[in-house]
Amino acid sequence: LVSGHEFDWIASLARRVARDSRVSVGIGDDAAVLFGGPRDWLVTVDMLLEDVHFTRDMPMTLVGRKALAVNLSDISAMAGDPVAAVVALALPRDANDRLADDLMAGLGDLADEFHVAIVGGDTNVADKLTVSVTLLGHPTGRGPVGRGGARPGDVLCVTGQLGYSLLGRHLTFPPRVHEAQRLHQLVDLHAMIDLSDGIGSDLFHLADRSGCGFLVDAAAIPIHSPTRKDDRSPLDHAVNDGEDFELLFCVSAEDADRLTAEQPLGTAITAIGRAVAEPGVFWTKEGTREAMPRGGFVHRWA
Ligand SMILES: [Mg+2]
Repeated sequence: LVSGHEFDWIASLARRVARDSRVSVGIGDDAAVLFGGPRDWLVTVDMLLEDVHFTRDMPMTLVGRKALAVNLSDISAMAGDPVAAVVALALPRDANDRLADDLMAGLGDLADEFHVAIVGGDTNVADKLTVSVTLLGHPTGRGPVGRGGARPGDVLCVTGQLGYSLLGRHLTFPPRVHEAQRLHQLVDLHAMIDLSDGIGSDLFHLADRSGCGFLVDAAAIPIHSPTRKDDRSPLDHAVNDGEDFELLFCVSAEDADRLTAEQPLGTAITAIGRAVAEPGVFWTKEGTREAMPRGGFVHRWA
C-alpha cells in the first residue's frame, strides 16, 4: 500500500461527505473545524480489531457499519445527538482495493441515516485490520444521562431482546439513538448504559457508579429466541454474550409503569428489576435470591 492510496481514500471520503451546516472546515485541512455554539460536546471513541470484534470473512460493509454503530450506541447511552465523526483505519498489507471502499460504504450509509458528518480520516498499514471511529455529539433535553444516578426504589428497564448477538445481530443492530432521545423527552432517566458487554458486566457499572445495588428477576429478562441451540442456557446467552447494544436504564416506579404500559418506542421496554440500597447485584431465579456472577464479555490480554 503506497501513500497515494491513502490520499485516494481520503479523497473518496471527502467526495461522499455533503456540506453540513455544523461543519466550518471538513476534510482537506490539517484539522476539521466545527461550529461550537453554546452546547456541550459528548466525545466517544471505539476501536474494532480484526479477530477480536470481527473476522476478515465478514462483509466489510457491515464491519464499517459496526465501527460507527458502536459509537452511536455510546452516544445513545447518554441520550445524545450525534454530530460528527473521524475515522482511523489500519489496513492489512494484503488488503485489496475494495476493502477500504466497502468499509467506508457501510460506515457512510449509517452516517447518512443518523445525520453524522464525517469530518476527517487517517489510514495506515498494519498486520491486521483496525477501524477506530471517534464520534462527537451534543447532549439533548435535560442534559447528558450518566451511569451514576440510580437510586434505591428505581425500576431497572431494558429495551429490545438480549442474547445470541454472535448469530449476526452484532453486525446489524440498530443503534438506539432515537429511542434514547424519546425516553429522555418522556421521563426523567436517572441512569443509563448501553449493553455492549451484557447485563452480567454492564449492570455492575451502573451499580458501581450509582453507589447502590440491584435485584433482577431473571425470568423477566427478554431473550431472543435462538436460531441455533448449544449447551449454554438462553439466560446465560442473554446476560453474558454482550454486543446487544440495547439500553439499560433506571427510572422511577411510576415512570416505569407508564413506559411499560404505553410502550412508546416501537421496540419493547421491559422492567427486569429494581435498584436497592444494599450494594451488590443479585437476581432471583426460581424463587431463590443469589448474587449475579460478574461475567459478560471482557477483552482479555496476556
Ligand atoms: Mg457504552
